[in-house]
Formats: sequence, structure tokens, C-alpha cells
Amino acid sequence: MSTTDELIRKAAVLNAIKHDGRADPGAVLGNLLGDSPELKPKAKELMPAVRRIVQEVNSASLAELNHEASEKWPNNLVKEKPEEERKLPPLPNAEKYQTIVTRVAPNPDFVLHLGNARAAVLSHDYARMYDGRFIVRFEDTDPRLKKAQLQYYDIIREDLKWLGCSWDAEYIQSDRLEIYYGIAETLLTKAAAYVCLCKPEAWRALVTARKACPDRDMPIVEHLGRWRKMMEGGYGEGEAVFRVKTDLSDPNPAVRDWPGFRVVDVDKTPHPRVGTRYRVWPLYNIASGIDDHELGVTHVLRGKEHLTNMARQRFMYKYLGWSYPDAVHFGRLKVQGMNLSKSNMMKALEAGQYQGVDDPRLGTLAAMRRRGYNPESIRQLIWEVGPKPVDVMISWDNINAIDRKIIDPTSHRYYFVPNPITVNVTGVNRDIEVHPPLHPQYPDMGSRTLKLQSLNGACTLLLSANDRPMLEKGRTVRLMGLFNIMSLGLENEELRAEYLSGVLGETENAPILQWVPGGDNVPVTAVMPDATKVSGFAEHGLCGEPIGSEVQCVRFGFCRVDDVKPDTVTLYFTHD
Ligand SMILES: [Zn+2]
Repeated sequence: MSTTDELIRKAAVLNAIKHDGRADPGAVLGNLLGDSPELKPKAKELMPAVRRIVQEVNSASLAELNHEASEKWPNNLVKEKPEEERKLPPLPNAEKYQTIVTRVAPNPDFVLHLGNARAAVLSHDYARMYDGRFIVRFEDTDPRLKKAQLQYYDIIREDLKWLGCSWDAEYIQSDRLEIYYGIAETLLTKAAAYVCLCKPEAWRALVTARKACPDRDMPIVEHLGRWRKMMEGGYGEGEAVFRVKTDLSDPNPAVRDWPGFRVVDVDKTPHPRVGTRYRVWPLYNIASGIDDHELGVTHVLRGKEHLTNMARQRFMYKYLGWSYPDAVHFGRLKVQGMNLSKSNMMKALEAGQYQGVDDPRLGTLAAMRRRGYNPESIRQLIWEVGPKPVDVMISWDNINAIDRKIIDPTSHRYYFVPNPITVNVTGVNRDIEVHPPLHPQYPDMGSRTLKLQSLNGACTLLLSANDRPMLEKGRTVRLMGLFNIMSLGLENEELRAEYLSGVLGETENAPILQWVPGGDNVPVTAVMPDATKVSGFAEHGLCGEPIGSEVQCVRFGFCRVDDVKPDTVTLYFTHD
């Protein structure tokens, strides 16, 4: 490589690092001429070389580029400037309330996923922004179709803590049934609700035709009697429904006289927390609508699929003389190539397609936690998206780019050699010990120790079979932080190589490969995002990392240390 090529490469690599791995030829030329004004007269002739080198650089992974830059031009790596503080738009009518109260209301029939994180983070962060209160409310009042599972209450709590959404109060709706029953009686007494005994098909025909249930206007005392009979077990599942009166001509049939309570055969489907204690269970709009009022929620932040629910609940609020909270309805957060449908995930999990709710293939927060994402990256993403009503499609590349910036400065570097091949290097006449830094930009973090033993003028180390194309006979490669070797060719899956003396600078354009000592190492299994496993060896120091820490395996990618046993380390791959 000529000196000019090397200068172009430097400009291209540094430019690519600034722009998530994509250098721009124009910008590279500009930076090059800025750094080396003597090249200005040749600017036009330089462009083909700039384009060629930019193409090479853009085909390398960001991890490789970062590594190259930190090895060759450590002083040119600019540390990230703290980004300008982002702000959320103000909440509507915030000045109306003395204390802002928000809530997140998960159903513990599954864990939280990336899509749910939007409601959680916005609700929590708005409460903090206004110095208000943030409530967690478990909505577990469907023992039949959206049945809660005990383990999910705890995982959701863990999800929220991990997201940094600490709460001021927690409520569980299955503890609050008596409250809903009380309101039900009030509504019946006001003739604002009634108990309908229509068969489901008959009801559907009536409501479609905007006609009333024949019993709708029977005396209040009759409906109170039916309600008592519901409570006492006089009706079986599907035989009686408590309905809230609305406008039967409402354009949306789902709003017309919506169901508030129904009978559940809890002998067949007992509730995981309260068993068979209650037979009459509130539906979403009753429980959620009553609680928002009872708990003093001032702002409801939720997906726009809840707009119909707001229309339903407003009727109940009017009957009871309550004022409806201010509501912010936002669009869905979708992730490219990822199915975030809770029911689909649950079905696949039950069918044994996944190892658990933290299977790396899932978009659950539990999976992201296990893979080593920093929750701050989710928060940044949600702040960028904000409470806009439009659906937002994001990609893993978006998430990874944000996460990379957050985890890079604190992740210790290690050499990991996937799919290893043994290399015998001749010409090494003494034991060698090297101490590469734990982080090339932050020497204060300390260093690692790698030891190579010389035996009969040779030493053994491991390289990755993935680098085979660079190890053809006669090629020179540079081993990171060690020395250069020349390949003498592969023989029986073992590479023979020769130690090259000389200063590192002499072979600056040789590929730079990570390596692991042949003796002092630890077997590693890396679990990849598609749940496949990659095996190899890492330097022994990796064993000293606490479980849960994030590391960067140089030229492989960021990984979370999932398990450390004396004889093996398990990593979960985060991203490159
Ligand atoms: Zn009816």
C-alpha cells in the first residue's frame, strides 16, 4: 500500500467510525485534503482510489474498523461528545393537576417486549419529568382467555426495574374485585347498566341492528336481583353479562352497550392468585376505567388501539360524575423482521419452539437483557420516537447503533477465537508475555496478560478458521499486540508459521488478527441471536469477568458473560 493509500485509508476508517460504519467518498476526500493540504493539486486524480478504499472500508464490520483505528491511530479516535439533551413534548393539560400520576398496566399473561417498553418508559419518564407519581398495575382479571401466570408478575417487575422504571405504588386488580363490584351496583342503581341474559348470537344480531336488549329497560330492582344471582353462582359461564348502557346508534358497534362483567367457571379455570374465590370477573374497560379514576391517574399513555376503549369508558365516567384522565395515544413500535405479537410468541413458546421467554430469538425485554443490551438504548430509542400517534418501524441496526455507543466505552476487550485452528510458530526462542489494554482508549482500565511458552524454539497459539483466506502460504499477518508471522501453509488442519522479526510499522497493511495462546486459554461457547452456538477459545482472563458483564470480543462482537465455570465460559452475543 502506498503512503497516499494509507492516508486515504486512515481518513476513510475514521469517517466510517463516525457514521456507523459507512464512509462517504466526498467527506473522506475532504478530510484527507484538510489533513494533507499538499495533496490538493492532485485532488481529482485521487478520487478513484478514494472510492476503491471507501468500498473496502465499508465492507468491514464496525468492530474491525474500531480495532484498526485504535491500533494504528489511537489519537485520532474522537471520544463521543455527549449528545444534546433530548426532551419529551409536554403533557396535555399538565397545569390542571397538582401532581401528575401515570401508570403502566401490564397483563401478567406474558412478559414485556420491545413494543410494550414504549408505554412503560413514557409513563415513567413523564411522571419523573413532572415530579409526579408512577404506578404499576397488574391487570389480571381474565382467568379464561388471557390468564395470568404467577412467574410473569415477577419477570415484569424485573423488566421494569431493568428499564429503570421504578414505581411509587403497585396494585394487582385481582385484589380489587370488591371495589369493582361496588361500582357495578352504583351503575345498576343509576339505571346506567343492566344484566343481559341474551344468548351471544342473539346479542350480536341485536347490536348490529342497533337494537336494544329486550330486558334493557326493565326495573332497576330486577337487574339488581340478576346481579346478586350472578354473584351467588346462579348463572353459568356465558349465561349473564353486565352491560353498560351507551348510545345504541354509536357508529362503532364495539361501543354499543359494552360488556362490563361476565361469569367465569373458575372451577374449570381457577385464577392463579385467588383461585375460585370469585366467579364474576370484570372486563378490561370496567377494571381499567375504574382504577384510573380510583388511583388518581391524571394521564393515560397507551397505544392508539385503545381509542375505542376510551370511547366506551367515557360513558361510565359520565354516569359516575368522574372526569376522564388526559389521554395520549401513540402508535405501535414495530421491529423489522421481528414478530412482537404476544399471542404468537406465547403459542410458539408453548409449542416448544423457544427455550424460554429470554430465548435470544425473541423481542422480549428478558431476551434483550440476557443478550446484554443496555436498557438505556431502549430509553433513547423511545425518546427519539416520543409519543407520536404514527406507527414507527425500527430495525435492529437502529437499536444496535444506539446500544454500541453506550456499551463500547465500558466493555473490556478480549481475544476470542471462534472455530479455532492450531498454529505452530517457529523462531520463537523465549517465553513471551504481553499486556494488551482492557480498553484501547482508556488505559486506566488496566490490562490483560497473555503468555506464550517457547518449546524447542517454537510456540503454539490459536487463530480462527474464519481468517483462513488471510493465512495462505506466504502471506504475512500481524497478531494483535504480539508480532508478525508468515504462513508456511496448512497441514492436517494445523497451520505452520514463521516468526518475523522487525518493527510492527513495516507491515502496516498486513491483516491484524486476534489470537489466543495455545496453552493458557478457556473454552467458550457463544450463543448467537438465532440461538445457534459458536465454539472456540478465549484468553484466560475472560474467566475473571463477573457474570452479567458486557465485553467486546475483538473482531467478533459485543457479548454478555452469561456463565463462568472453571473450565468454560458461556457468552450471549449482543451485536457487532
Ligand atoms: Zn340481553
